[in-house]
Amino acid sequence: MSRFPITRLGHSHSPEADHRLRVENLHVHYGAICALKDVSFEIGCGHCVGLIGQNGAGKSTLIKTIAGLNRKLTGSVTWRGEALAQVKAEVAYLPQIDEMDSFFPLTVGGLVEMGRYPHLGARGRWRALDDEVVAAALSALKMEEFRGRRLYQLSGGQLQRAQIARALAQEAHILLLDEPFAGLDEPSQRLLGDLLRELAENGRLLLVCHHDLKAVPELFDTVLMLNRQVVAFGPTSEVFTPDNLANTFSAREEDPHV
Ligand code: ATP
Repeated sequence: MSRFPITRLGHSHSPEADHRLRVENLHVHYGAICALKDVSFEIGCGHCVGLIGQNGAGKSTLIKTIAGLNRKLTGSVTWRGEALAQVKAEVAYLPQIDEMDSFFPLTVGGLVEMGRYPHLGARGRWRALDDEVVAAALSALKMEEFRGRRLYQLSGGQLQRAQIARALAQEAHILLLDEPFAGLDEPSQRLLGDLLRELAENGRLLLVCHHDLKAVPELFDTVLMLNRQVVAFGPTSEVFTPDNLANTFSAREEDPHV
């Protein structure tokens, strides 16, 4: 049974729209360091994809690049056949909790309202509709009672839910989550796992950087195994194999140069 009424939050899903994320021949480097090499994959919406790889494998770089936060790239990333810059409002990036400035005095309500900014139009006027969407997003994540709370007053699990509420208020189709389970206790992990699955069943596409290998088959229907290059990509039941794991976690040259 659904614990979060996310289906109340519509996101346009016209049957003729080509809801596919295509990453083609992506190379990303930081100065002379090669972080991603020739990464290509393609996936439609309605999936929860685990990005699996050792420290430094390029997982965060990949989702930051899809979020449009990395400019030093060659290759292409498109959604619905459009370059990401054209469809930015449809992509929500949820950073690692320790990358958020937790002392910034933002409230949960303020964070979720930020999700509406891409929809406000040239004059930036806030409408009754924006209030409604924000209220629905908070309600869907059971965060209404936290609306006035500062982010630094939340637990890790509540902070993840606040971030997801922001993504829902944005009406994002693609959610990019960097290690959302890190630091959560078991009940919060279970609750978040259910929520991510529900979002995928509801037609969103989720790409999730993840460390805990034990939980992978339960959490993700698809995996992308990364070692700066794609080692394997496909349904978890077919691809998450001991051989692919060995290749994904094999020793590699430290910080190979471009
Ligand atoms: P982790 O699991 O430790 O978070 P990751 O798989 O997310 O690792 P990335 O953070 O994407 O890996 O890093 C890939 C490589 O790029 C690493 O070698 C890292 O040192 C390098 N790197 C990442 N960000 C930067 C940056 N801003 N400047 C320079 N090098 C960077």
